[in-house]
Amino acid sequence: MIPVTKPYFPSREKLNKYLDGIYDRQWLTNNGQLVQELTSRLEEYLGVENLLLVGNGTLALQIAYRVLGVSGEEAGQHPEAITTPFSFIATASSLKWDGVNPVFVDIDPGTWCLDPKNIETAINANTRAIVPVHVFGNACEVEAISELANKHNLKVIYDACHTFGVQYRGESLLKHGDAATLSFHATKLFHTGEGGAIIFKRKEDLERAKKLINFGITGPESIEELGVNAKLNELQAAMGLCVLDEIDQNLAARADIWRRYKQELNDKVQFQNISEDLSYNHAYFPAVFETEEQAMAVAAALKDNSIQVRRYFYPSLESVACLGDHPVMPISNNISRRILCLPIYEQLTGYEQRTIIDIIKSELV
Ligand SMILES: *Cc1c(COP(=O)(O)O)cnc(C)c1O
Repeated sequence: MIPVTKPYFPSREKLNKYLDGIYDRQWLTNNGQLVQELTSRLEEYLGVENLLLVGNGTLALQIAYRVLGVSGEEAGQHPEAITTPFSFIATASSLKWDGVNPVFVDIDPGTWCLDPKNIETAINANTRAIVPVHVFGNACEVEAISELANKHNLKVIYDACHTFGVQYRGESLLKHGDAATLSFHATKLFHTGEGGAIIFKRKEDLERAKKLINFGITGPESIEELGVNAKLNELQAAMGLCVLDEIDQNLAARADIWRRYKQELNDKVQFQNISEDLSYNHAYFPAVFETEEQAMAVAAALKDNSIQVRRYFYPSLESVACLGDHPVMPISNNISRRILCLPIYEQLTGYEQRTIIDIIKSELV
């Protein structure tokens, strides 16, 4: 079976060395040495400041909402946030879970990111934030979004879970927004098994978040405010340090696969318009087919050959019942019906790539 993605497994020897250290120090969690080391190495690698490691990418969003007053008591009675229907469920469900109503506005048909032109009419007195997604690592229109947010006094939290290592106009894309969040789930480009991070614009927000991820505790006998447990532990940090050591070869292998798919499938499928001035991370290979029937036929043909593709993202989130009643988002709905993500991971062999491409081509004649 060829899966759509495979977790990256770094050198076992190196991992063992980190585990030896954990056994020597007898320290497993609560901001241990490896969590501190991973924090500073990630800040350096990504070119950011104010990075906080947390338990997963969903908690990263939830902590960011809370710290920025988008959820919780500071948010008032019926808080809302404007977000994209074309994303993984966690972007919107994390809002709903925390009592913030997700208000969807449609995406740009080329970039598949939230279209700033649709945002302003959705803003009302309850709107607290804009939660866009740099979908598949592509950059949102960060300047336009930031202008709107300033004009209406809204926070911006980027779900940047696909954006590991992406540079935009010469600096990290993660620097945009009041906060940007990452997921380090096993299937992501960079991972810690489960894990995530928040990159805050302001140091004081980072400091408050440090309290919130540890029950609001600030000392042996002091609990300053309501918190939760959202900490990353030493075992996860050890995995992350090993994966980070090998990130260059991981990125290079994915870039090769991505370029080969692109070259071979050019003219046959629609690709995402990647922003100019973006150094892409090739974390996903999304392809949009002419019709839903064609996409389903390709998926079925691949499945017959034990090759997995994913309808990622499908369904468009406005149609997910547990998120509430929302109007149809025509562009997101249309793309989500026709999109498939093809297998892409470091160990995917040239032969496997050839097989996948040939099957797709044979369905498209
Ligand atoms: C993976 C992902 C998440 C959730 O991250 P977890 O670490 O699995 O909680 C949220 N948003 C997007 C866009 C993702 O891809």
